[in-house]
Amino acid sequence: MTATADEFDLGGLRLSVGEGRRIRLSVRIEPLVLGGERYEIEPERVPVQLEVSRMTGSGYALRLGFTAALTGQCMRCLKQASPEVEVEAREVDRPGGGEELDSPYVDGETLDLAAWARDAFALAAPVKALCKESCAGLCPICAADLNEAGPEHYHEPERDPRWAKLSELKLE
Ligand SMILES: [Zn+2]
Ligand SMILES: [Zn+2]
Repeated sequence: MTATADEFDLGGLRLSVGEGRRIRLSVRIEPLVLGGERYEIEPERVPVQLEVSRMTGSGYALRLGFTAALTGQCMRCLKQASPEVEVEAREVDRPGGGEELDSPYVDGETLDLAAWARDAFALAAPVKALCKESCAGLCPICAADLNEAGPEHYHEPERDPRWAKLSELKLE
């Protein structure tokens, strides 16, 4: 069992300068909203690997890696989709090192792991959540699932309504 941590105390590792450590944790990632749909992140407690290195001088270099699935409605065929997303992120926090070296996720010695994991996941997530990359979607006319209906699925083109009117007239 790994501990579920929303926040992680970097100071608690008591690393000496130049020392690094790899830690396994799990974190809950808040659902994402894509194209107006809500997507849960699975598993509920995502196992993550956190690498912490204490830099020369002061501060930390951090690396976060995990794989999680975006679970919700396929944007094309509306069935269940859960594409896996691989996340690899780095942060540096060096107090007094200027804005670029000031990680928004580190406050003092406390790492906001939940916020970092969520943002990194959102950046790595596909723009379109699909059940599969090649999902054929739904027929725009009858809403049949084209993954099942196959490429032969076809509708006769609608007849021009003006011609339909004419044929009605003939019948009278
Ligand atoms: Zn689909
Ligand atoms: Zn159709």
